[in-house]
Amino acid sequence: MSSCVFPGSFDPVTKGHMDLIQRAAVLYDQVTVTLMINVNKHGCIPPEKRMELLRKACADLPNVKVDRWDGLLTDYMRNNGERCILRGARDTAEFESEYRAAVINRQICPQAETLILPASPEYCAVSSSTVREIAAFGGSIVPFVPKGLAKEIGRLLSK
Ligand code: ADP
Repeated sequence: MSSCVFPGSFDPVTKGHMDLIQRAAVLYDQVTVTLMINVNKHGCIPPEKRMELLRKACADLPNVKVDRWDGLLTDYMRNNGERCILRGARDTAEFESEYRAAVINRQICPQAETLILPASPEYCAVSSSTVREIAAFGGSIVPFVPKGLAKEIGRLLSK
């Protein structure tokens, strides 16, 4: 059975993330979306809520499951016998940082290969940070977050 792990902060999950997840779900028998605590990013939405949102967003995708890991991604890969890390790149700058992360991860855990998928043009400007900014000022985030979740995400992000 082919499988991959899509790690991220998902603070909150966006249509850009979902586009990647749906594309990966066609390529792999099983996709695990794993909420990671990024030590370089101060989280906005509590991790339990982010998990809840991810579960709702992925509910209709039978071969996608949601998980959480508070440690090193390479330990997660090893512990779960996973070999493929899925990441996205919205532009060349992001490709470079994803490329560096892929090299480091492979040095720590040689079994872990990274698949970097280019963002779809319609979502290449969508980011969790933009969603947070718009919601903080009461703007509409409907075009950027998964269907049916805008109200809940808006409530979590409004100041
Ligand atoms: P992290 O803190 O690990 O970067 P994010 O949730 O910000 O977590 O992103 C997780 C992954 O999703 C990253 O590889 C990022 O490039 C990718 N990603 C985020 N937004 C988009 C998008 N709009 N289109 C494609 N990939 C995206």
